[in-house]
Amino acid sequence: MPEDICGRIQVVQIPVGMLRANCYLVYGEKSRHAVIIDPGEESETILAAIRERRIEPVWILLTHGHGDHIGAVGDLKNAFQIPVAIHREEADMLIDAHANLSGLFGEPVLSPPADRLLKDGDGIEFDNHVITVSHTPGHSPGGVCFGLNHHLFTGDALFKETVGRTDLPGGSHVRLIQSIRDKILSLGDDVILYPGHGPITTVGEERRSNPYLREIV
Ligand SMILES: [Zn+2]
Ligand SMILES: [Zn+2]
Repeated sequence: MPEDICGRIQVVQIPVGMLRANCYLVYGEKSRHAVIIDPGEESETILAAIRERRIEPVWILLTHGHGDHIGAVGDLKNAFQIPVAIHREEADMLIDAHANLSGLFGEPVLSPPADRLLKDGDGIEFDNHVITVSHTPGHSPGGVCFGLNHHLFTGDALFKETVGRTDLPGGSHVRLIQSIRDKILSLGDDVILYPGHGPITTVGEERRSNPYLREIV
């Protein structure tokens, strides 16, 4: 088998901001190339974690456009001059504090516009890997999960033993449950789930113990 030039994939979870949104750094142990998922706030904390590990970010990927997930995009994009990607249905949330709901949660939050608009089934090249994009609407219309090997970053679709809220504009509980059924629970039990808030879990754990998924498993 050819040696993986990227090396083993490492994931760092950094909860940021008042809502403790999880920012993730995902990087190849050997290549030291990284993607930053959902830099919600506290750019200095995220920058320190990047420097400490001597990694080089190449993408900022957003699971969705709510204010608690995008507040540090501008600082990190400036620091590394790297592109930002979000699902095409949420492009407006980056540049509109009303659309990203930050007005509801405190100070208005804005981000630079997206460089790449995503849709279901897209692949994002990362070293010799492809990060897959699954559209998982329900918490928000253009929410996505990012998959890399046996890692899945679920944004606010699914949390450990609960699911995302669906009472915000564009939310739908029926769509959310469909998304989780078709795009998350269809994966193997050993897939590790990295939610937008709270602790890391697995598909198997949620299949067994998430009370919101009893109706579908
Ligand atoms: Zn959200
Ligand atoms: Zn959130």
